[in-house]
Amino acid sequence: MSNPSTFLTNYRAVLLPAILVLISACAGNKQQLVDKQEVKFAKSPKNIILLIGDGMALPQVSAGMYWEGGLEKSVFAQFPYVGYHKSHAHDDLVTDSAAGATAFSCGIKTFNGAIGMTSKKKECRTILEDWDAMGKSTGIIVTCSATHATPAAFVAHEDSRAFTENIAFGYLHTALDCFVGGGGYFFSKERYDHIDLKDSLRQRGYVVRDGTNFKKMPMDGSAPFMLLTHDREPETASAGRAYLPRAVREVCQYLPKRSEKGFFLMVEGSQIDWAGHSNDRHWLRAEMADFDKAIREALAFAESNGETLVIVTGDHECGGLALTQAESKRSFKPAFASHYHTATMVPVFAFGPMAEIFTGIYENTAIYDKMKLAMPIK
Ligand code: MG
Ligand code: ZN
Repeated sequence: MSNPSTFLTNYRAVLLPAILVLISACAGNKQQLVDKQEVKFAKSPKNIILLIGDGMALPQVSAGMYWEGGLEKSVFAQFPYVGYHKSHAHDDLVTDSAAGATAFSCGIKTFNGAIGMTSKKKECRTILEDWDAMGKSTGIIVTCSATHATPAAFVAHEDSRAFTENIAFGYLHTALDCFVGGGGYFFSKERYDHIDLKDSLRQRGYVVRDGTNFKKMPMDGSAPFMLLTHDREPETASAGRAYLPRAVREVCQYLPKRSEKGFFLMVEGSQIDWAGHSNDRHWLRAEMADFDKAIREALAFAESNGETLVIVTGDHECGGLALTQAESKRSFKPAFASHYHTATMVPVFAFGPMAEIFTGIYENTAIYDKMKLAMPIK
């Protein structure tokens, strides 16, 4: 078979009715945490936090869990509902992060490298743009540059992820309330065209600063902001990068101040993928630990808020990671089969109102469908 999408997709049509049956069957049920602590949720979410571990599939989640000290200590144990998505691109069983993120942001399978574009090279409207138009506040927090494939697919439309300087303009066209991450260069006069995008953003009312200091940002909700943590790509977690969990905590308090209608926040643990490409287990361990902390911040907010759906998933596996037998019977030896992505299915963890619709096996595009079902676009 030359086209995976023809035999791998096509059950979205039956998936939606199935979801509706599931919702009615689950309506009114109380969700329970693994530790049996009961949390009362609204019937449907007002806010969605989507956390994407780039290059994070079951092997990375498993490794992270054992490195954290087992299931009881793993943040993933706190999610009452788990499903799997099939990550393939439109015409390739192995996806890249651009097509993978476009599946989440636009709900379509596209070609590798495409940023918010259909397989026919037409712009697709992103779910972030839809929710923004509804008056919800929106935010993006990443540990890569703003123009990297995953965040790009939520705000920009380009045929190729390589057009990073063009992608930066997406932040002018999409009215994000906040961005935290690297890539300051792409908004500075140092760009090849010397267009000062920081200035353009300031003219639109944004507070734009370099660094990781939230104290200087309009956290009272008085203005949108861009906190450009690094000029290019942020350093690794093991080299001291630590802003991700703090940013999630701060932004979860900030976004409700920007709109009474709710919010959408996308958080990416961007470098889990890079550790996989490098077959570097120490890097991977540090990135998984950092992402774990970020997820805990999102869960803590969702637990106290009661109207927030938290979804944690990856865009694809990376590195062909296997947890092989080690000399010690109480540990494992990470082994890598690839320096690139693989087609392994990716787990999806959900917590909060309507989290139950994320169980089962489905296409990566169904994440978009389910988010839309949980928080309809009017
Ligand atoms: Mg990414
Ligand atoms: Zn990758």
